[in-house]
Amino acid sequence: MLLSRFARVDLSHGPTPLEPMDRLSAVLGGPRLWIKRDDCTGLAQGGNKARKLEFLVADALAQGADTLITPGAVQSNHVRMTAAAAVRFGLKAHAVLERRVTATDEDYEQNGNILLDEMFGCGRSYVPSGADVAAACADVAAELAAKGAKPYVIPGGGSNPIGALGYVACAIELLEQAKDRSLTISCLVHGTGSSGTQAGLVAGFAAVGASVDVLGISVRHPQDKQEGMVFDLACRTTDYLGLGGSVQRERVVADDRYVGPGYGQPTPAMVDAITLVARTEGILLDPVYSGKAMAGLIDHIRTGRFRADQDIVFLHTGGSTALFGYKSLFVR
Ligand SMILES: *Cc1c(COP(=O)(O)O)cnc(C)c1O
Repeated sequence: MLLSRFARVDLSHGPTPLEPMDRLSAVLGGPRLWIKRDDCTGLAQGGNKARKLEFLVADALAQGADTLITPGAVQSNHVRMTAAAAVRFGLKAHAVLERRVTATDEDYEQNGNILLDEMFGCGRSYVPSGADVAAACADVAAELAAKGAKPYVIPGGGSNPIGALGYVACAIELLEQAKDRSLTISCLVHGTGSSGTQAGLVAGFAAVGASVDVLGISVRHPQDKQEGMVFDLACRTTDYLGLGGSVQRERVVADDRYVGPGYGQPTPAMVDAITLVARTEGILLDPVYSGKAMAGLIDHIRTGRFRADQDIVFLHTGGSTALFGYKSLFVR
């Protein structure tokens, strides 16, 4: 059907579970809450990038690549999963790590995702905050190509129309799970950063005419910029699917009120949200994405956005590996 003509490798365990969060719903006195467990995609501790990498790695292999190059913040989940995906297919990986988060400590620099990048033998170079990471990746690619390698550059977060197909697939998977349970999902909430996850979801729901609202919680950019990025990529993704023109601008919503001081920088609401979910549901969120997304969901519930009889799904995009890079926030 929709995705069968696109090359894809198998990198993720699926379908990922859709589980109730009854204890959290009761504590918040809110709508019926569900969690879509994309932290359980399986690849190297799981997370949303596994779905994107299924299409990106297939494209890299089709082009005869032998090395994956990709940028990210120092504690990037995307880099960790790209490094593991490379290993699975006998490729090399090199990461361009941007020092986007300042005022870090030794855990941030060496534990969490960095520890795992090292386990997977991923090459690393560092650039300062605000550097042109796409240009830095192109430089690394040119250097490696001069030595005879066949590099393939994956953009930040794997967010282009190829990677976004992973979340078109997720949208369809979620609709099937909802149908099996006779569930009508009113809203799907998740953290949005490089935009491929939300763009794929919006494109996927539009492609099959589903009316699920998608509420992105921005972890980096102001609302205007984030919505612009998501809308642009959602349109390019529907074009790539051969369905141009099916995404409406008003379907793209990215609330920026939970970013705090900046990308990867802690907020008290994030710490509270992670602690609450750990202690009511036994589920680990992360400090950069899903913790802030949950802080947003909790605030929307407390301010009455949802009715008690609505079914709301939180998409757990993974990232708990980064908890080990932010230990001092939780262990005092
Ligand atoms: C990358 C990432 C996101 C954001 O997904 P985008 O497609 O980049 O918007 C959310 N959560 C986690 C844990 C991530 O690693």
